[in-house]
Amino acid sequence: MHEYSIVQALVERVEAEAARLGVAAVHRLRVRIGEASGVEIELLQTAYGVFRERTLCENAELSIVPVAARWQCPRCLAEIPRGSILRCPECAVPARLSAGDEIFLDRIEMEVANV
Ligand SMILES: [Zn+2]
Repeated sequence: MHEYSIVQALVERVEAEAARLGVAAVHRLRVRIGEASGVEIELLQTAYGVFRERTLCENAELSIVPVAARWQCPRCLAEIPRGSILRCPECAVPARLSAGDEIFLDRIEMEVANV
């Protein structure tokens, strides 16, 4: 399951970051998920709920910020509206995805020990 491996990578990254900073607890994670990334947000939440047990993220809430897909002409950089033909009307070249394919750990809220 794709979402499960994403969650695994995510938690590993958070734990590495937490270890580096000497963090006692993680409170919240915020992740940006592009609608063209192929990630099912609901499945991601479910996978996270399973995976976070006995990790530093056990009590951390996962908040997901969906990012809309955006298309652009690679030649003249014109924005191609959603729902239209994904081709630049001026240059007649196929549009390129300019946003919305990301899976990005946006923010980690954590508690630093001994500060
Ligand atoms: Zn163009």
